[in-house]
Amino acid sequence: MNALTVSDLTVAYGPVRALDGVSFEVASGCVTAVLGANGAGKTTLLRTLSGLVRPSAGVAHLSDRDLLRTPAEEMTRTGLAHVPEGRGVIAELTVRENLRLGVLGARRTGRRRAFDVDRIYDLFPVLGERRDQVAHTLSGGERQMLVIGRALLAEPRILLLDEPSLGLAPRIVAQIFALLRNLVDTEGLTVLLAEQNARSALSIADRGLVLGLGRVVADEPAHVLADDVRVRDAYLGN
Ligand code: ATP
Repeated sequence: MNALTVSDLTVAYGPVRALDGVSFEVASGCVTAVLGANGAGKTTLLRTLSGLVRPSAGVAHLSDRDLLRTPAEEMTRTGLAHVPEGRGVIAELTVRENLRLGVLGARRTGRRRAFDVDRIYDLFPVLGERRDQVAHTLSGGERQMLVIGRALLAEPRILLLDEPSLGLAPRIVAQIFALLRNLVDTEGLTVLLAEQNARSALSIADRGLVLGLGRVVADEPAHVLADDVRVRDAYLGN
């Protein structure tokens, strides 16, 4: 079953076409990596799906919900959680207070909550150790864990992550990615992961989508893309 269906999505910033007729599907309970060099359109894609950028054409559905007609402030209730690039936390609030914000506006599933704050501490023990520490004192990796934890508390059906690996040590990236993969396998979460770090993203992804100047240039099972020298040399730069 597809969680997300996107057709012909086009976004222009003045004369710049950041997305040009982008179509793809994201299967439920899978990790789909969105790859591409700087400026390929990854961030624009995620921002458009979460209602922050208005497209000039196209359709996007999350299950039966028309995402492009859903206001950004209703996205979390619809089941879409977006973790933007840059790890935005409220610097003066503690870890616990930042996490509690994630519960506001959470989707009502009619079932027992899959995630509560204690579960986030189980998933990321370092956040439990630092629960009373203000967020600006956290390391980059801890901050990334905090923003992911906060997003999980909204009980998303789909989690959009923009460059979570940026600037983190490989060991921390591996730890966070393994945890994401585990959540997909155990909780049926669906993840759309935008990354320049193609190798790490493909190591946990089921499928990979490569953007080149706003167009889909490849859409393949992750293991096929990982071995595709042509795509790697032309679009991934690693
Ligand atoms: P990066 O990894 O550097 O964030 P990206 O793949 O996420 O790259 P986008 O940030 O989506 O790419 O940018 C796609 C194109 O749109 C680029 O040419 C970029 O310069 C342009 N662009 C992005 N945001 C704006 C904006 N607000 N106004 C004008 N042009 C923009």
